[in-house]
Amino acid sequence: MNKNPYEVLGVARDASDADIKKAYHKLVMKYHPDRNPDNKDAEEKFKEVNNAFDILKDPQKRAAYDRFGDAAFAGGNGAGAGFGGNPFGNGAFHFNMGGGGGMEDILREAMRGFGFGDFGGGGPGRGAPQRGGRDLLDEVVIDLKDAFFGKTHTVKFSSNVTCEKCHGHGTDDGRPAPMCSRCGGSGFVQSRQGFFAMETPCPECNGLGRKISKKCKECDGSGTVNKQRTLEVKIPAGIEDGARLRLAGQGEAGANGGPAGDFYVDVHVRPDKRFERRGSDLIMRVDVPFTTLALGGEIEIETIDDKKLDVKVPAGTQVGEKLRVRGHGMPSVRRAGAFGDLYIDVAIKIPTKLTDKQKKLLNEFAGTKSEKKGWF
Ligand SMILES: [Zn+2]
Ligand SMILES: [Zn+2]
Repeated sequence: MNKNPYEVLGVARDASDADIKKAYHKLVMKYHPDRNPDNKDAEEKFKEVNNAFDILKDPQKRAAYDRFGDAAFAGGNGAGAGFGGNPFGNGAFHFNMGGGGGMEDILREAMRGFGFGDFGGGGPGRGAPQRGGRDLLDEVVIDLKDAFFGKTHTVKFSSNVTCEKCHGHGTDDGRPAPMCSRCGGSGFVQSRQGFFAMETPCPECNGLGRKISKKCKECDGSGTVNKQRTLEVKIPAGIEDGARLRLAGQGEAGANGGPAGDFYVDVHVRPDKRFERRGSDLIMRVDVPFTTLALGGEIEIETIDDKKLDVKVPAGTQVGEKLRVRGHGMPSVRRAGAFGDLYIDVAIKIPTKLTDKQKKLLNEFAGTKSEKKGWF
């Protein structure tokens, strides 16, 4: 039994495509198996979210669900769907609902089929219906140091690319196929279901809008072939956690010569043990000897790019004060060559082992009179 996809994604019935995408993205990140290892509940939710998105991202499937509910996806001529049975029972669509695909399929689907392209693809228009290729999404986690220097991220994956042999036309001779006479090239035909007239994919050309008499052997007429690909993604220096990089046109190839989708990389920056990041500034906690704090002096620190640096500590510096070291923060992604600052969060370490002489000196110090009781 499938759940209501609107409820699964937590969106309203009239939610826009953008809202659906947003909700999907949030949930798929939340329940991603990489983030929930060995968590059956999360795995179940992950499947549900993907199933729900599979329906709602596709205007046709969404319309079918709105009208017929689950029955639209039951397969076969499910009776009792309210309005004269299931219009999609003829196998025009293949829905992979529920238990069908294994976890691996769904994962690949989530990684590959981010589905942006499915919204944008132009519907039936003049000539053969072009469909934009799907967008692809990858995620990468990098260290703060990588974010400082920038990094090249290599992605290996397989995706549909335009068949080189037929230039995407799917024909044996590599030239555009003639228009389908039945649907006039739109890819859709009108059919009646009870009271409703609706558009269904043309059975003659399977919605392609063109009639291929001799198929290209390389791609079996689809115009695209699945290919192993490698992308080198340049992660710019200074990138922030949660940033999304877009490689235009590097997604899946479109159908019928439609534009290729884009390739997205979501970049996550792992928290660092030494440095806390605030925008382009870095904060580093440093233990300073109490004598240096009281008398003033210098401390040596190591910056994020492993440089040793002497920092002046003014006499009378208090614990919790922040000493600013200009220009030793993160590089700015917006302004080339600009860097944030590094702040030393002053901490103190009280020595636990004192020699007799040190004890004597401290006792003497404690005994010296000042205006108030205490040290200063
Ligand atoms: Zn081909
Ligand atoms: Zn047709």
